[in-house]
Amino acid sequence: MIRIDLTTALAIYLFILVIGFLIIWLISNYTRKDKTSTSKENSIWQCAICTHIYVLDGDQDISRCPNCKSYNKKKGG
Ligand SMILES: [Zn+2]
Repeated sequence: MIRIDLTTALAIYLFILVIGFLIIWLISNYTRKDKTSTSKENSIWQCAICTHIYVLDGDQDISRCPNCKSYNKKKGG
């Protein structure tokens, strides 16, 4: 039988505990990232032709007005 003193046993115990927490953290982090993939933000657009205000998800340079179907370019670009 292998002789283990108290400090070695404690070190092994803590090591297993840390690894366990690490695995739990990794699994929870992975599932959380998979569930909420809402990194993209909604952008508010105002049509230059009919002044209709509409919201689109994502960051686009050119969008199409749902009201008059005309193309609008992003401001400040
Ligand atoms: Zn429009």
